[in-house]
Amino acid sequence: MCPETRREKIASMLKENEMTISEIARCLEMSVKDVEEDLIHISRSKKFGTLVVLPARCRKCGFVFKPAVKIPKKCPRCKSTWIEEPVFKIYS
Ligand SMILES: [Zn+2]
Repeated sequence: MCPETRREKIASMLKENEMTISEIARCLEMSVKDVEEDLIHISRSKKFGTLVVLPARCRKCGFVFKPAVKIPKKCPRCKSTWIEEPVFKIYS
């Protein structure tokens, strides 16, 4: 599949819905790593609109991560791996 088309597909999904990296990966049958790469590209490109990140949170202690295009593995405060993924949305 052409990567440009794939990014456009992700962008149009995120204009309609708030989604996590895992949800996008499941929906488009992509790897998490590929979705992360595409989201980083989308966030840098002007043509897709503004990518907004609701940051990841630790479900155990409530620690809020810096907004970033990646799924954190571990909470730096309590070391829990019970992490709520960041959520993405595009505003055009
Ligand atoms: Zn924590």
